[in-house]
Amino acid sequence: MSEPLRPEDKIENGDRRAFLAATAAVAGTAVAPGVLLYGMAQAKPAEEAVSAKVRWGMLIDTSKCSTGCTDCVTACNTENGLAGKTGPQDSQWIRKVEIKNLQTGAKHSLPMPCQHCEHPPCVDVCPTGASFKRADGIVLVDRHICIGCRYCMMACPYKARSLVHEPLTDQNPEVPRGMGCVEACTFCVQRVDRDETPACVEACDAAGHKAMVFGNLNDPESEIAKTVKTYATTEVRADLNLNTGVRYQGI
Ligand code: SF4
Ligand code: SF4
Repeated sequence: MSEPLRPEDKIENGDRRAFLAATAAVAGTAVAPGVLLYGMAQAKPAEEAVSAKVRWGMLIDTSKCSTGCTDCVTACNTENGLAGKTGPQDSQWIRKVEIKNLQTGAKHSLPMPCQHCEHPPCVDVCPTGASFKRADGIVLVDRHICIGCRYCMMACPYKARSLVHEPLTDQNPEVPRGMGCVEACTFCVQRVDRDETPACVEACDAAGHKAMVFGNLNDPESEIAKTVKTYATTEVRADLNLNTGVRYQGI
């Protein structure tokens, strides 16, 4: 995975990624002329900076989410190199949560990752600037700047963040993590930047539930934007006015 971009780093990193892409293509042709060995060559141009024209979002239809299914959680763990433990000190980037309507008694099972707030309290309280929001709405942590103070964990109303307590093994090289750093769902930024779907959404589709839709909330032609416009959707703790990127249907 490319290093997470802070807003001020976009041009610089875009240039660096363009350089890496060019290097990869050259290396590929050196091994086998005319054959591109790197998936990167199939993706959109790496030098294309993230833009505020895009607001990435996820819509979760709780009526389609199966209570016993945890395929999204498993896929997230596999994609991002998480151990899959669920203790209070273990990293969980997405959790299955059961909620109950106190008036009707209706129960809903829903996955809860970082909500990628437009106004993220975690970013507001971070004393080092390690927590940041990309122009396209993805909220990330720069592990090189994070000092593990955990202010952001206390500020997040969704308990979406985890501190890495133990030394890490078997990391996904695309998803660098570090002991002593706080982390959370990245919307699978490494995949999104290759025009791929987040792992949890892909797993939900593969299981046949199709409860999760990922896309550009700013594109009126996208499935997510059309659904949000047509059907009643809500944010969890909408009263906080954080304008979350994750929306829910059916609750
Ligand atoms: S859900 Fe929590 S961690 Fe994610 S952006 Fe909002 S405040 Fe930050
Ligand atoms: S978008 Fe990626 S990082 Fe976020 S919960 Fe889904 S699989 Fe995990």
